[in-house]
Amino acid sequence: MPIGGLYFDQTFIILIPAMILSMYAQAKVSSTFNKYSGYRNSRGYTGKDVAEMMLRRAGIYDVRVEHIRGKLTDHYDPKSKVLRLSDAVFDSQSLAAVGVAAHECGHAIQHHTGYAFLNFRHAIFPVVNISSKLAFPLILLGFFASVFFLKIGIVLFGAVVLFQLVTLPVEFNASSRAIAILEGEGYLSHEEIIPAKKVLSAAALTYVAAAAASISSLIRLLVILGGRDD
Ligand SMILES: [Zn+2]
Repeated sequence: MPIGGLYFDQTFIILIPAMILSMYAQAKVSSTFNKYSGYRNSRGYTGKDVAEMMLRRAGIYDVRVEHIRGKLTDHYDPKSKVLRLSDAVFDSQSLAAVGVAAHECGHAIQHHTGYAFLNFRHAIFPVVNISSKLAFPLILLGFFASVFFLKIGIVLFGAVVLFQLVTLPVEFNASSRAIAILEGEGYLSHEEIIPAKKVLSAAALTYVAAAAASISSLIRLLVILGGRDD
């Protein structure tokens, strides 16, 4: 197979739907977040306020809430037990900020309560980390040398796909916990819940798109493997 044909042979078509979904999800999360960044919540809570109150009420006292630079860089770091909120979330009183802060708290609560999918995700992470680095060099080698390398590369890439699939319940669960707490503990009014939900659904779609993209890549590799006659 010529080098130029490596990425643009006819099996490239398999990747297109997921690529379109990814572009749509990115645009959607950005536009939804921007829209609801313009609506202040009626109680005047910042992302930081919500995060700290939520953690305390969940009985979590060993997780710090910090500010991190960037856009949509918010995350919970289970290793150092730090919840990092971005520029547009930390000090912001917007509905988008409260939604995102609550979602990250959802991850801290998952960690605190030993949520099974999160534990599994952490357990396989070291393996996936190595697999993801080795998969493509081996796949590439498989194109030019023995098909054996292609097979090993595909197995390693399968671990990456598994990781992205396990990420889905973790993300959906963090958001559903967030919405239930925001409503149940009265951080947001009933009318304010819907925009917060929209922000989190848009964010969840980016994870669905990422999983779809890696599944498509895996299918494509299997099709390429099937076409090899050596
Ligand atoms: Zn998340």
